[in-house]
Amino acid sequence: MNEKEGFWVWIIGIFFLVVLGWAVWTYGGKLIFFICLLLLILLIGYFLRQPRRYVRESIPEWMKQEVLKRQGGHCKYCEKNYPLQFHHIVPVHKGGLTTIENLECLCSNHHDSISRVR
Ligand SMILES: [Zn+2]
Repeated sequence: MNEKEGFWVWIIGIFFLVVLGWAVWTYGGKLIFFICLLLLILLIGYFLRQPRRYVRESIPEWMKQEVLKRQGGHCKYCEKNYPLQFHHIVPVHKGGLTTIENLECLCSNHHDSISRVR
């Protein structure tokens, strides 16, 4: 779910609950109205507690060392060993995890060219 979809879930959810609340206020009892109000608050709480998926997880030092060891201490595509940047093979925003398997180490040139393609 991206940010735009999240926004529409908000709007639809709140609209639905307001309409439902209005309906039970008019035709039902006030108790049901307060139950709907509670549901609305829970819905808002749920969305506020959603983790920010675009926040980059920091890569633990031991993981960087393992990835470096696997690649012989240099960029995956060339022999440069400075400045190196760690890169998620499956991007974080596409569900890629921070694991040794999903990380590779690239020089800044190759990191830039890969990032631009995606
Ligand atoms: Zn390189």
